[in-house]
Amino acid sequence: MSDHHHGPHPHEHGPNCGHEQVPHGDHIDYLVDGNLHHPHGDHCDDLGPIKDVS
Ligand SMILES: [Zn+2]
Ligand SMILES: [Zn+2]
Ligand SMILES: [Zn+2]
Repeated sequence: MSDHHHGPHPHEHGPNCGHEQVPHGDHIDYLVDGNLHHPHGDHCDDLGPIKDVS
């Protein structure tokens, strides 16, 4: 297997997926269990724990 899907993640993120949306530059990322997820094609990249960006 050559893909690099991460973790159990059986859904696509979207406006109503239930995860908190986090603005990231010119797009929206999603907060999943304390980690920032960056939607990327048919999967998403896990950017790791979000810092306090208040
Ligand atoms: Zn989601
Ligand atoms: Zn994700
Ligand atoms: Zn992002």
